[in-house]
This record gives sequence, structure tokens and C-alpha cells, in this order.
Amino acid sequence: MTEKELKAIVVDVPDFPKQGIIFKDISGLLSTNEIRSDVVDKLTQPYQGKRIDVVAGIESRGFLFGMLLAQKLKAKFIMIRKPGKLPGPILKTSYELEYGTDSLEIQEKSIKEDDVVLLHDDVLATGGTAAAAITLLKEAGASKVYANFVLELGFLNGRKQFSESTHSILKY
Ligand code: IMP
Repeated sequence: MTEKELKAIVVDVPDFPKQGIIFKDISGLLSTNEIRSDVVDKLTQPYQGKRIDVVAGIESRGFLFGMLLAQKLKAKFIMIRKPGKLPGPILKTSYELEYGTDSLEIQEKSIKEDDVVLLHDDVLATGGTAAAAITLLKEAGASKVYANFVLELGFLNGRKQFSESTHSILKY
């Protein structure tokens, strides 16, 4: 499928979850085997022949394709979760939101020293979430992290928040 065809499946939802925000709803990309396979092929394309030990999905939509990426790349899958969801021992990092802070957690032993990690989430917006996740993965011992997203809101310059090699398939 072309980028244009895939973009036509993503729905713009005005004023969700708050007034003034246009939410990109990726639900349609999950709907058929044909679409899912195409998205997974495009997301994994840059890593063919490269070492990926672990795919790390960010709660919660990062779990959806993240799991399929791990399957395709024959890698381990781990969850990066919101606070209080994972049984310990855990590693935690906090990051700034527009108003206040939020945190992400992983299980301490989920990454082995020197693991190469593919970080996946559905959307790269301002980059704050991904930057925090990268900090956490490195703290846990990852030697290299690749950042990977279905959709990238390029006008928000999220890539500038971190220096890791980044791949997204639908750019706005
Ligand atoms: P960031 O930290 O500003 O880059 O926001 C990224 C996080 O917010 C990701 O975990 C996304 O799931 C979520 N997000 C931000 N904007 C959208 C959107 O338009 N659609 C779906 N998820 C979004």
C-alpha cells in the first residue's frame, strides 16, 4: 500500500481528548491482516539484517504493533508502562508534560547489559514520551536504541528531543 492509502485509513478526530487537539486515530490500521502486514513490513524494513535483541513497546498503543514487530524480528518484547502497573523491581523515569509531570517504568531485569533495543510507539508528537523511554532503556543497560513510530507529527519536531536513529512510516 502507498503512504497515501495508509494515511486515508487514519482518522482525524477534532477536539479529542481536549478542545483544540486534532487526534490521529490509528485504529483502522489494526483492522485487517493485509493492512497490518503492510504496516509491519514497512516498520521493520530498516532493520533487516541488523541486530535487534529487544522490542520495547510504550503503553498502550505501542504494545499493538510492537508485539508484531518483535515477532517479525524474532526479538524479545518488553512493556514500558505508566506508573504502578508493573510488579517490581522496576526502573522509573519522570518527564515534563505541558502541565505537570508523568512517569514511565520498566522491569529492572527486562534489558540485559549491551542489548540493542527497538523502541516502538504509535505516534511521535513532541517527543517527550520517546525521550523519556530512551533514557530509561539506556539506564537499564541498552547499548543502542532505535526509535520507531507508525505516525510522526513532523511539525512538532519530536525528533529533536533525542539523537537516536528514527523511522516512521506516515509523516505529517
Ligand atoms: P509526545 O510525548 O508529545 O511525543 O506524545 C506521544 C504520545 O502521545 C504517544 O504515546 C502517543 O500514543 C500519544 N499521542 C500524541 N498525539 C497523538 C495522536 O494524535 N494520536 C494518538 N496518540 C497520540
